[in-house]
Amino acid sequence: MDTDIARARGVYGRLIDPDATGFGARLDVTPDDRADEVSLRLSRLFGERPELAGVMIRLGGRDVGVSTPARLRAAAGQANVAVPEAGMADRASLPGLSGQYRAIRFACGSAGCGAAQTLSYYDPRLHPVCAEAGHGAMELQR
Ligand SMILES: [Zn+2]
Repeated sequence: MDTDIARARGVYGRLIDPDATGFGARLDVTPDDRADEVSLRLSRLFGERPELAGVMIRLGGRDVGVSTPARLRAAAGQANVAVPEAGMADRASLPGLSGQYRAIRFACGSAGCGAAQTLSYYDPRLHPVCAEAGHGAMELQR
């Protein structure tokens, strides 16, 4: 189990803020969950509960580390630069996917800004960012 935790810290390292200790929710993951899947679930959680300062990622009931919205945004931004195309073609070519997608809405969280964007699928590497300077990543809407 310790090996699993260590491995999980590696896999989810970019989602975890080593300095964060506070969290208001837990997210249980399995050893098979990919980092982008966990990132998506964290995005949803933070989107649904904006008051959350952090979420403890847990594997098999053991604490892995705390993810924060800032860390999540930074991870999405970094990955966005590093691998802008990865994964997109795979998803686009999946047979039968077209009838299953749903619109995923994002909106800028800055006060007074009405910027919004709708995607047919979510890729944390391509997390929408508000066009206004300084507004940063948009928030996932329900
Ligand atoms: Zn904005």
